[in-house]
This record gives sequence, structure tokens and C-alpha cells, in this order.
Amino acid sequence: MKTIGLIGGLSWESTADYYQIINTLVKEELGGLNSAKCLIYSFNMEEMAVLQREGKWEQAAQLMADAAKTLETGGAEVILICTNTMHKVAQEVQEAISVPLIHIAQSTARSITTKGLKKVGLLGTKFTMEQDFYKEVLDQYGIETIIPEACDREDVHSIIFDELCQGKFFPESKERYLEIIRKLLADGAEGIILGCTEIPLLIKDEDIDIPLFNTTYLHSKEAVDFSFGKE
Ligand code: GLU
Repeated sequence: MKTIGLIGGLSWESTADYYQIINTLVKEELGGLNSAKCLIYSFNMEEMAVLQREGKWEQAAQLMADAAKTLETGGAEVILICTNTMHKVAQEVQEAISVPLIHIAQSTARSITTKGLKKVGLLGTKFTMEQDFYKEVLDQYGIETIIPEACDREDVHSIIFDELCQGKFFPESKERYLEIIRKLLADGAEGIILGCTEIPLLIKDEDIDIPLFNTTYLHSKEAVDFSFGKE
């Protein structure tokens, strides 16, 4: 079993979910007292959120690359950036290390392709929904991405930062997300990417009868498969 390095804290709520999923998958595979070999580098999210808001992506990339190098030095044999948004700087992170980085949008795209879907709705931070860095990966897999309209994007984004990343989960926010998801379905989406690692903490498969792509789970699963040499 290879050691997995997690760049976390963005937010710690979702990093805890990664930790739980990864350990559960290892236990399912090996049983008994087996658990994952992993290292977590956990950021103070407030510091990273300021850089995001101010558009200081080069500085953010440097911090992320330094975190990845620290994990590699500590023995990580594969790296995960435990947030969709920070994949904006995935290339800079990969270039700083010699072990592989598993890209969350690629893990998601492979799952969408396996299900045979061609057009999906994307929910995430405004950075993820509005910029190209995420959608262009899906595009490489022949997947068309649609996003909510502007006022819906505002709500999706603010619920992430003001609530989910702070461990607050409200039924009215869940209902608002489901309303936005239904609009994307009406616009032709065949499934929905929960493209922010906190959204699966609020929206569950049983909430709506369509394919939901839980990026936290899909990313974690590929890391565990990699750690068992099943890539
Ligand atoms: N975890 C979130 C994501 O998957 C948002 C936090 C961040 O801005 O990094 O995009």
C-alpha cells in the first residue's frame, strides 16, 4: 500500500470527509485493523480564501507547491489537492514534485464517461464554475458542462463559504441547491457534478433521483486504487 499525501484544510470539513472515505475504502479492501497510510498538510483556510478573493493565484500556487513538496519529503507517494477550486494551480503543484498528482476533474470525468453521460451541470465555487481550468479538463473527455445562471451561482458560492466550509448545514440551503439542480436538468444536464468538496456534505444521492458526481468520493477512490497499484 502506497502512502497518500493530502493537501487539506480547504476546508477541514471536507478534509475530514476525505480521511474518513480513504480509511473506509482501505478497510473494505483489507479488513481488520488495516487503515490508510497517509499524511495531511492542513492549511488555515482563511489565509487561502484571502488569496483567492484577491486573485493572488501565483502566491497561492507557491504555497500549494510547498505543501506538496513537504508531503513528498515526508514520504507521500501520490498527492491529492483536497479541493476542486485549488486545481486552478494543479499544474504548478505537479511541476514541483516528482510523485503523481491525481487531478480531481480527471477522476470525475472518468466516472462520468463510465456512466456514458455527455452533458453535466457543474456546481462549485464561482472560481470553479466561471473559470476555464475545470471545464477544460471535462472538455478533454468530450463532456459538455453547463453552469447555473449568475444569481444562482452567487448563492451556490456564498453557501459554500458562509455555511458549508464553516460546518453549517441548513435545510433551506439544501432546498436552494436542489432548486438550482432542477433548473440545470431542465437545461439538459444528464447528471450533476458536486464540484466542491463540501457540497456532498449537504447534498446526498437520496435527495434527488439523478446521477450525482461526488468529487470528494471519486477523488479518494482513485487515490486508494492507486495506493493498491490498481490504477
Ligand atoms: N473545497 C472547496 C472546493 O472544492 C472550496 C474551498 C476552496 O476554495 O478551496 O472547491
